Amino acid sequence: MKSMNAREWLQRLVAFDTTSRNSNLAMIEAIRDALASQGIQSELTYAPEGGKANLFATLPACDGATQGGIVLSGHTDVVPVDGQDWSSDPFSLTERDGRLYGRGTADMKGYIAVALALVPEFLALKRTKPLHLAFSYDEEVGCLGAPVMLEALARRGVRAEGCVVGEPTGMRVVVAHKGMNLYRCRVHGKAAHSSLTPRGCNAIEYAARLICRVRDLADEYRSRGPYDDCFDVPFTTMGTNLISGGIAVNTIPELCEFIYEFRNLPGMSPDGIQGRIEAYIQSELLPRMRREHDAARIEIEAMPAMVPALEASERDAITRLVRALTGDDGTSKVSYGTEGGLFQNAGIPAVICGPGHIEQAHRADEFVEIAQLDACEDFLRRLAGSLTD
Ligand SMILES: [Zn+2]
Repeated sequence: MKSMNAREWLQRLVAFDTTSRNSNLAMIEAIRDALASQGIQSELTYAPEGGKANLFATLPACDGATQGGIVLSGHTDVVPVDGQDWSSDPFSLTERDGRLYGRGTADMKGYIAVALALVPEFLALKRTKPLHLAFSYDEEVGCLGAPVMLEALARRGVRAEGCVVGEPTGMRVVVAHKGMNLYRCRVHGKAAHSSLTPRGCNAIEYAARLICRVRDLADEYRSRGPYDDCFDVPFTTMGTNLISGGIAVNTIPELCEFIYEFRNLPGMSPDGIQGRIEAYIQSELLPRMRREHDAARIEIEAMPAMVPALEASERDAITRLVRALTGDDGTSKVSYGTEGGLFQNAGIPAVICGPGHIEQAHRADEFVEIAQLDACEDFLRRLAGSLTD
C-alpha cells in the first residue's frame, strides 16, 4: 500500500462516521490492514455487545523487543453532529484558511492520523524501545473501551513506560484532570393511596433528602476544599442531574430513581466521597424509612461511565520527556476527562498532549489547524527519536 501523509490519513479517518452510537469497526479494520501491510500485527479487543473494537499494535524495537517503550493513545469515536449547523459536510475533510474542518479533526482523529502517517518512519528508526499504538472505542460516552483494552494488555503482561494521550491541548502538556463518577440510586418505599400517608413510605420524599445530602456535601467541598487552583473549578463538584419517580398524583410513590455525579480532584478518593453518602443512608435515612416500612431499601449502583482522575508526576520519565520535547513547563490541568487516568491506574504513567484545541471539539465546524498537525508530527518524530538512545 502506498504510504499516506497525515492529511491523507485524516481525510480517510474523518470519512468514517464513528459517532459513538455507531460501529467503529470499518475504521479499526482499515487501520489494522494498513499496519498489516507494513508487517505490524494488531490486537483487536471487542466490546461485549459487539460492533466495536479497540486496536493495540506494537512496533517492536530493532532487536525485536516488545516490552517497555511508549504508548500513543487515541479514541476512534466522535460526538454526534445532530442539530449542529455545519458549513461543510462534517464527514468530508475540508480545507479553509489553513484549517482542516471535519468531525473529529481536533477530538481526536488528527493525532491518530499523524501517528499512522509516521509509522513507516517509526519502523525505519533504529529504536532500542518499542512504540505502541492504542486506539479505543466509546471514549466519548464514558471511556468504555479503554478498560477492555487495558485488561487484555494486563493478561498478556504487556508493559510500557509511558503514554501520551493525544486529546486536543494545542500541543501543550496537560498533567491532570478530575475524575468523573456516576451513580444510579433507586429508593424503594411503599405505595398507598395518597390520602393514607401513614400506610405508605414516600420514595420521592426520601430521595429528596438524599439529593439534598449530596448538595450539602458539594457545598462543603466548595467552602472548605481541598482546592487545586490549577483547575478552573478548583474543588470537587457534586450534583444530581436526572430524576424520575411516581406514577400518579394520588398515589404515594413506591419508587424514585435518580443519577448523581461527582468530579473529584486527583488525590481525593472517589470511594471516600461515596462512603460519606453510604454512611448517611445507613445511619440516618434507611432507619427512618424502615420505621414506616420494614422492607424499604435504597440501591446504589456505580455506572460504567466512570473516569478516574489523572495526576501525572513530574518525576515520571514520560512527563519529563514530553516537557522537554514541547518546551512547555506550565502546569495545565483540565476539567474534561480522558483515558489518561485509566492508563495511570494500569501502571502506565500518562500525560495529555495533542493537536487542536478543546474549544473546537464537539462543536459545529470543528477544525484542526494544519500548523497544529505539523507541530504534532514534529513532536512525535522527536519522541520516537528519543527511543533510539
Ligand atoms: Zn476526545
